Amino acid sequence: MRKGIAVSPGVAVGTAYCIHEIFVNPDTRKLEDSQITAELARYETARDKAAADLRALKNKVERQVGPDEAAIFGMHESILRDAAFTNKIRGWVVNQRISAPAALHQLLNEYSALFARTRDEYLRERLNDVRDVVNRISGHLSDVLQPDSTVLDGPVIVIADELLPSQAVALGDVNVMGIVTQRGSQTSHAAIIARSRGIPAVSGVTNVLRQVQTGDLVVVDGSQGQIVLRPDAETRAAYLKLEREFFDLKDQLAENRDQPAVTSDGVALRLLANINNVADAKAAVAMGASGVGLYRTEYLYLTHPNVPDEEEQLVNYRQVIAASPQQLVTIRTLDIGGDKTVPYLGHSHQEANPFMGWRSIRLSFEHPEFFLTQLRAVLRASADAKPGHIRLMCPMITTLEEMRRVRTMVRRARRELEEEGKTFGDVPLGLMLEVPAAAVAIDVILEVVDFVSIGSNDLVQYLMAADRDNPKVNHLCQPLSPPVLRVLNSVIQSCLRADRPVTLCGEMAGAPSAFVLLLGMGLRNFSMSPAFVPSIKDLASHLSVDRAERILHRALQMKTVAHIKRFVHNEVADIAPSLALLDTA
Ligand code: PEP
Ligand code: MG
Repeated sequence: MRKGIAVSPGVAVGTAYCIHEIFVNPDTRKLEDSQITAELARYETARDKAAADLRALKNKVERQVGPDEAAIFGMHESILRDAAFTNKIRGWVVNQRISAPAALHQLLNEYSALFARTRDEYLRERLNDVRDVVNRISGHLSDVLQPDSTVLDGPVIVIADELLPSQAVALGDVNVMGIVTQRGSQTSHAAIIARSRGIPAVSGVTNVLRQVQTGDLVVVDGSQGQIVLRPDAETRAAYLKLEREFFDLKDQLAENRDQPAVTSDGVALRLLANINNVADAKAAVAMGASGVGLYRTEYLYLTHPNVPDEEEQLVNYRQVIAASPQQLVTIRTLDIGGDKTVPYLGHSHQEANPFMGWRSIRLSFEHPEFFLTQLRAVLRASADAKPGHIRLMCPMITTLEEMRRVRTMVRRARRELEEEGKTFGDVPLGLMLEVPAAAVAIDVILEVVDFVSIGSNDLVQYLMAADRDNPKVNHLCQPLSPPVLRVLNSVIQSCLRADRPVTLCGEMAGAPSAFVLLLGMGLRNFSMSPAFVPSIKDLASHLSVDRAERILHRALQMKTVAHIKRFVHNEVADIAPSLALLDTA
């Protein structure tokens, strides 16, 4: 049994498929003179096959997801065709007489040593891209099958250090029943994909790749955040039963997609979806969400080779709006910085504390022309929307002045569009409440906003001074801890008193225990990964507001997070016994 971090709930029992760091044992034999030409030819063939893979993948992603998401594969092909890259490999094969796989290994070591000196997350991400490309070529050289190949026909549990971008997308083809990663936590690539597809996943299981081999039987318990390697017959049977219950539950819950979301005493709720792209918007419809409560527009930028211009953004926003439930979408302005960086916004320099530095709205202000382009695109995309259906919100707002400045910028964007004779809509303007300072002064900031969306992922990390991506401080990053509950309760009360619509769009909205407490606080709008909508709808239908208030009242008197978690989890088990399986809060 190994403990990790629960990142996507549910249970899966299956065969491990390990995605190892490549070349654990590169071939160190020297080539004979006569072998060199053949080795170069072998490299060229592998490279062409890798390029063909990438083109096929690009076309497929373009068709199924969109051109922006597919752009990354074009970028991988340019790395693969890069002259410096190829010349190094050829040079080493010829001069050092090493095999092509050994040369690729050497190249990756060289890049890793170079990149190790930088703390720039963007550059590190690019190293992942190089690794991905090298992986792909080496797969063809050694005939090791790639994750998007037929070896993964059957259902598998993917075990990886962390999932590379192309692997994560390629997994769309594969029957993946569970994911385990050595690194990462709630916000890593693997976690986001797992949650949006409803696949049980556990992250932060250090060194697991040394303990498990492809073909081993593995249990993933994404609700408890643990895995069992090579379980005995009894353990296996127990988990298989849980797994069946999990599948049955998901099937049964998905049938409620056309039902309204109401509590057992008839109070209507809005269950919205958090999305990153058009595919997620479609998933939101399939799961019965009533709209989109958070569209993270930075994914458009992160998967784009350069700055998406106004027309490109407009096309993207229109597509997302058209695909979303009731064409109701809350668009969040660019939330770049922290762990997500793009070079064209001046992130080439290092920051000692990127999460507390130049990120989100702070960065947008510093690039007014860039920010205006986004505001104009959003205003234009909402031209034909029903009133109030397209909303705009800004991340990381800390002070009243910042919100006033956003208003001024929106007015300027409208004026410009008017002068140019372009049509545009009217969008309510909200703030994402993620910074404790804004929570403390919320009554003042409320004067200048139309709505509030609580970004609890960030709010919890800033309140607890505990990095949300660092598994070592995960015990502090707890949404059900007493100080967090007090702050959430106080913010929600302030919004209700001021008659401002309030939503919570952090991950906790989709966790049964957290949902019960938030409902008790008076919250009625919840935004979550689409996969969680059916279970929260079901939980609500068994729960009265009165009972949620009583549970909250008791929880607020408790002094430790452990006590609160145990108490609320037991309450959930009593309200809807089957749903305790889906509780990761
Ligand atoms: C949050 O911080 O809670 C949030 C929803 O935004 P993100 O996870 O994108 O930072
Ligand atoms: Mg946030």
